Amino acid sequence: MSQTLSRQQLVSLAEQFGTPLYVYHAEKIKEQYETLSGAFSQVKARFFYACKALTNINILKYINRLGAGLDCVSINEVQLGLRAGFTPDRILFTPNCVDFDEIDAGRALGVTLNIDNISILEQFGNRYGGSYPICIRINPHIMGGGNYKISTGHIDSKFGISVHQLRHIERVVKTTGLHVKGLHMHTGSDIKDINVFLAGLEVMFGIAEHFPALDFIDLGSGFKVPYHEDDVRTDVAALGEKVAEAFRQYEQEQGRSLEVWFEPGKFLVSECGYFVVKCNVIKQTTATVFAGVNSGFNHLIRPMMYEAYHRIGNLSNPDGASRIYTVVGNICETDTFAWDRTLPEVREGDYLVFYNAGAYGFEMSSNFNSRLKPAEVLVLDGEPHLIRKRDEFEDLLRNQLEVL
Ligand SMILES: *Cc1c(COP(=O)(O)O)cnc(C)c1O
Repeated sequence: MSQTLSRQQLVSLAEQFGTPLYVYHAEKIKEQYETLSGAFSQVKARFFYACKALTNINILKYINRLGAGLDCVSINEVQLGLRAGFTPDRILFTPNCVDFDEIDAGRALGVTLNIDNISILEQFGNRYGGSYPICIRINPHIMGGGNYKISTGHIDSKFGISVHQLRHIERVVKTTGLHVKGLHMHTGSDIKDINVFLAGLEVMFGIAEHFPALDFIDLGSGFKVPYHEDDVRTDVAALGEKVAEAFRQYEQEQGRSLEVWFEPGKFLVSECGYFVVKCNVIKQTTATVFAGVNSGFNHLIRPMMYEAYHRIGNLSNPDGASRIYTVVGNICETDTFAWDRTLPEVREGDYLVFYNAGAYGFEMSSNFNSRLKPAEVLVLDGEPHLIRKRDEFEDLLRNQLEVL
């Protein structure tokens, strides 16, 4: 039942559109969305796609059609969301360390603001009082996430207002008359232990009584998807059961019913994405066999930045004898995608694929080394649609002013 694109499909897309190429499979996004909404069917749950994972306007439009909302971290993402058809009531704006003007621009557009620092909370309260309901991002100080760089709930994190500052939050809310409609937490990415979410929920319930106008608790995201062959994904079904139980109990004890919100990024779009590259050269050194491909961390930086593991496949020689390769890019900087990967023999000219390339793939790409950004293709109902042209040489000069 799981939605995947076949090797043959990917090879023919590589031939039609060239490489390097990002390919996204729409029905896989739908499948993930349905898994998630099914898991939380016993609670009043809402899902806001954390679009920083992948913002191509067509992906946004497709997710809008599925019925999800949108979680944005910059005013430009908010604008993209509006352009894609999300109405302001389905947009959540969760910026960090932005100028007050950017928060104010979000307010003018009518989206839900998630405020993550006392100084902004105070400025907002002083200016608008209770006239514009807001959500507050709390740092519950719970460790979550695949590694330190993608963990946001720890004591040194810049995100959220510490739960230990509750007294200060209350002071600001009370003095300015702020209307707090939501409490939010997001402890990181790649969290497989559902107890991280449940511990966070407990912290949120613990402080909820201080906010009588509360409509929802937002548990953020961080749902893990499998990257390794033998990896697990967050058991969202089990989490759904536990969350439903916790909310039922809360309702019984406190006599009020709250919604639960989530902001899945990776969970919705990671597995829909395939990054197809071509092997330029096989280079045997004293210590290893390198497969050098026509890409680098300018196109997919997760392996170098987070030491992330992406499964790799040989699309054009799947039945070749197994050999061991170090897969590297063509950038003048160490850009190793993978060490010691056993792959069917890779020949110069073969197409390789990086799986799970939908989230934080194209989105984090750059023009480093004056290389061109790849094209993007969306496969919908079996039909490929080019949704971003490959960069051209002139794109490198766009916005440069030749004054000499
Ligand atoms: C990045 C981010 C998310 C999404 O995280 P994933 O691990 O991709 O699901 C959700 N909420 C906020 C506030 C974020 O910054």
